[in-house]
Amino acid sequence: MKKFGMLTQILIGFVLAIVLGAIFGPKIAVVQPLGDLFLRLIKFIVVPLVLASLVTGITSLNNVNKLLSIGGKTIAYFMATTFMAVVIGLVVGFAISPGKGLDIEMPTQNAEKTEIPGTIDTILNIVPVNPFESLSTGNILQIIFVAIAFGIAITAVGEKAKPLANFFDALALVMYKITGVIMKFAPIGIFGILAPIVGNYGLEVLMPLLKVILAVAIACSIQLLVTYSIAVRTMGKMSPITFLKGIAPAGVFAFTTASSSATLPISIRNAEENLGVSKEVSSFVLPLGSTINMDGSAIYQGIAVVFIAQFFNVDLTFANIVTVVLMSILVSIGAAGVPGAGLIMLTMVLQSVNLPLEGIALVAAIDRILDMFRTSVNVMGDASAAVVVQNLENKKKSA
Ligand code: ASP
Repeated sequence: MKKFGMLTQILIGFVLAIVLGAIFGPKIAVVQPLGDLFLRLIKFIVVPLVLASLVTGITSLNNVNKLLSIGGKTIAYFMATTFMAVVIGLVVGFAISPGKGLDIEMPTQNAEKTEIPGTIDTILNIVPVNPFESLSTGNILQIIFVAIAFGIAITAVGEKAKPLANFFDALALVMYKITGVIMKFAPIGIFGILAPIVGNYGLEVLMPLLKVILAVAIACSIQLLVTYSIAVRTMGKMSPITFLKGIAPAGVFAFTTASSSATLPISIRNAEENLGVSKEVSSFVLPLGSTINMDGSAIYQGIAVVFIAQFFNVDLTFANIVTVVLMSILVSIGAAGVPGAGLIMLTMVLQSVNLPLEGIALVAAIDRILDMFRTSVNVMGDASAAVVVQNLENKKKSA
């Protein structure tokens, strides 16, 4: 009862934000500090929570093979669902044709060109040169590396390292407790973040690109209601309704903040409390997923490419489409779980098929809105992976 009480409260905050944002317009910005405060509180717990819960997750596994088994399944699931996501994005993009017959002026500002590190650099960058720097900058992939190294070494050292294991154990419990307290304010926080966004977006910005927004929303719903529902039902042995209800608070929070990283504390709690995922699995799968598994972002790349190609009257060849699929998977792995990352990554995908980079400026106007849809799918996709991996691990145990 209590659990669904929270979800209802969150939904009330969400709906109120939309209604009051629409009524008061930009004036609703007075509530912004409430949102900012909540966001700061949530971000403040991410780093210690991920570090401590992953270290304890690994020390309690007590064997490296189990880690490899969880890791292998997780990566395979991530790859498969991200592939599905781009394909769904492309199919919905072609079906809705958001860029055909569009009569809008090209925005005059130039698309920002951003330097994107190559694949080798991205991989090298997972290894931190200074673990304290990784913690202070909040680099999640590096923190995962640090936590795995610590976790394995603590287990290997054994008795002498016990105090360290206990320390991380206690830290994880403390961070979990703080998350619980902060989450009580989620309905107000969500209201404070979302209302000013709704108030600031005039219909004149949204209307011309309504088809793009629709296409992203439809493709994201398909990924949620078809791909994840089938996956959690068949491989996770969980009813899709239980799954969607259980992860809904994290989904709404991701929608509001457009940041997978900021949503981590909430998705970890939702997965453990509502979806029955163990600490070992959730503390590994969810932080990893928040940076390398972005199905919503992959969907977005597919739709944005189709839209921009249509807008500039470029016909995409089959080879182009294959390139887009591969590139979208790659950039969704490389993108950080922060607002707007997908838009920057779009540069790479457009370049790979020689589409004009000016296309970025077209979608930039509505990026925050698209980001909301893609981020909630990103987060729910990670949670579906946690459910599936958990069930496969349970099965192995009982076999
Ligand atoms: N904002 C997204 C996330 O945090 C990434 C993106 O922009 O596609 O998951």
